[in-house]
Amino acid sequence: MLPPQSLPTAVSPTLLLAPAVDVFARRAARFRSLAAQHSQGLWLNWLAALSEAQQSLAATPAILAVSTQTDLLAAAPAAVEQLRQLFNANAYGMDGFAVALDESLVLDQARSVVQMAAGSQLLAAAERSHFLIVAAMQVLWAQAARLRVQQPQPAQSEAHEACPCCGSAALGSIIMAGEGKAGLRYLECSLCATRWNAVRARCTLCTQGEVVQYLALEGAHAAVQAETCDCCQGYIKTFMQTKDIAVEPAADDLASLALDVLVGEQGFARGAPNLFLCEAEAA
Ligand SMILES: [Zn+2]
Ligand SMILES: [Zn+2]
Repeated sequence: MLPPQSLPTAVSPTLLLAPAVDVFARRAARFRSLAAQHSQGLWLNWLAALSEAQQSLAATPAILAVSTQTDLLAAAPAAVEQLRQLFNANAYGMDGFAVALDESLVLDQARSVVQMAAGSQLLAAAERSHFLIVAAMQVLWAQAARLRVQQPQPAQSEAHEACPCCGSAALGSIIMAGEGKAGLRYLECSLCATRWNAVRARCTLCTQGEVVQYLALEGAHAAVQAETCDCCQGYIKTFMQTKDIAVEPAADDLASLALDVLVGEQGFARGAPNLFLCEAEAA
């Protein structure tokens, strides 16, 4: 009998892909390359520096010690403070975070980030501290996801499009290129960066939508498209590795806000949270 992993992926695609150990370093590199020709280059470079600090935080003993038993929210204030120091140490003259954040403020904001990640609300306006808190939480949640994903997962129901690891909503979907996964669609979690397999040509925001159309900016980066649903009038972005192998959902999302404006003008509402994106910026 063949071991299960030797089945062709076309028959049985891997359901879950754990976040790579260098997920934040890759994101940082992508932010930097997108920043080069971009009107929001300063902001994207600032996010690149924040992603680099996230990668450093991910390698610290406190983060590596996170286990599935850890209360991730309770671990947030210490992680936020560590990230603040790492960012300030390598901010290259960019605006850092001068003051340590109050622990109860971190816990309050971290709870709203969990709500936001579940897709239930968009924050109307972000304090600068919001970015630091989200960034530290992403590192904690990604580490917990890595440990959990290595364990057997229950079968996923077709209609369940929340992250199988942490229950958050997807940031967007990615069409994979490369060996074994070419053409497969995965949704990427907005909080823990886990990717999970999702069939194509079906709306992931509602259970009815089968008809989707793809909108892209004329002449712009063809690797980023908005997948719209006429049934729920929502959309999520799809990032196509098949058109650009370097595409990185979290970074490419923030570098393609002009597409959100275009799709919004056509009457579709954004259905996927980017935790670094607040209502004022999406509008
Ligand atoms: Zn998740
Ligand atoms: Zn829909």
